[in-house]
Amino acid sequence: MKEVPYFLSLDQAIHLSSKHKLTPTLEYVPLNDAHQRILFEDIKSKVNDPPFDNSAMDGFAVRFEDTNTSPVTLPIVATSQASAGDQNLSLKQGEAIRIMTGAPMPIGADAIIPVELCTVDGMEVTLNEPSKPHFIRKCGENIGKDEVGLVKGTYLTPQAISMCATMGYASLPVVKQLRIGIMCTGDELKIPGEELKFGEIYESNSYGLTGLVKMLGHTPIRYSSVVDSIEALREQFDKAASECDLFITSGGVSMGEWDFVRKLMEDEGDVVFWRVKLRPGSPPLFGHWNGTPMFGLPGNPVSSHVVFRMLVVPYLRASLETPFPYDRVVHARLASKLRSTEDCLTLRRVSLKSTKDGFVAEQHKHQGSGNIDSLSQADGLTLLQPGQSGAIGEIIEVLLL
Ligand code: AMP
Ligand code: MG
Repeated sequence: MKEVPYFLSLDQAIHLSSKHKLTPTLEYVPLNDAHQRILFEDIKSKVNDPPFDNSAMDGFAVRFEDTNTSPVTLPIVATSQASAGDQNLSLKQGEAIRIMTGAPMPIGADAIIPVELCTVDGMEVTLNEPSKPHFIRKCGENIGKDEVGLVKGTYLTPQAISMCATMGYASLPVVKQLRIGIMCTGDELKIPGEELKFGEIYESNSYGLTGLVKMLGHTPIRYSSVVDSIEALREQFDKAASECDLFITSGGVSMGEWDFVRKLMEDEGDVVFWRVKLRPGSPPLFGHWNGTPMFGLPGNPVSSHVVFRMLVVPYLRASLETPFPYDRVVHARLASKLRSTEDCLTLRRVSLKSTKDGFVAEQHKHQGSGNIDSLSQADGLTLLQPGQSGAIGEIIEVLLL
């Protein structure tokens, strides 16, 4: 086997994988299909928002100079409703026009008195307080026509989609979803719902990995679990490499006799690196099979999830030149001692409690890398740097789950 970079720091591993980036491509999708997708280019507003000066309150449109003393009684000469647009509706000195929230400001009016501050008597209104020249939403105050509202690489949250609708877009240029294969390996794996025989466990990693791929806005292609045999793995690798842009395996990458993913990649694949200074999750492998990039994640359930977050997400981020959601880091104070190491980034599962002095991080009682409960109960993963003490009271970074 050729020599490959071995037991790298996380930064080195990310740097190496990013030399083998995927190339994003463009597609247009209708607005409502664009949720959780990634913008391929900057989006400029097609209109001013708001498109006309309008009232921010239900009340009366008046002239500021007529109403800066109180009380003052004015005749109500017309009504301006949202959408019932009379472009020429105008107001003369000493008059008031009834107006609804969002309705266009009449010509000549420059102030709004909220209805709560008025007494209405038939066709007259008494303003109980002087007007103020606000409560008017000015044309283009949110965004102007041709101004960039959202930049390339934006992850389309519900609020971003609403923004695109406001800017006048019926469809959006988004990054074409990547097809990401997910393949678990191990003789002991059984589908949940089937009966377990002695020595078997339920396969759980592919379900979590599928969720992670979906959360990132891509298309998961789930393959059935592969038994620990070189021939079976080779066959599934060929299939995944031809069907996917990238594929991910779990299990079989450690040092053991039965770790056939690693063996197959060493003998017949193209390994870029193997093992990374992460705890948990040190065995991962990155390389190519028939030219398709693949990540070999460890089989332990916590490790497979953690390595996806620490290696696969940065790889996709580099490929698509976008920040990703679900990648937020907060600072927290350690409530109990955290076991750190000299050479690895330590990713313990912690719950976060919000206090008036900021977040406090509490460890799950049992931190084994096979204990998915520690991950499912956690709010975040500690980003304890190699050599950092992990002492009680230390302020550390936590990656939110
Ligand atoms: P491996 O990396 O193949 O040595 O697996 C490490 C541990 O993770 C073993 O205890 C496996 O049984 C377990 N494991 C491997 N793959 C999965 C999976 N897909 N779901 C749940 N546990 C797994
Ligand atoms: Mg295995």
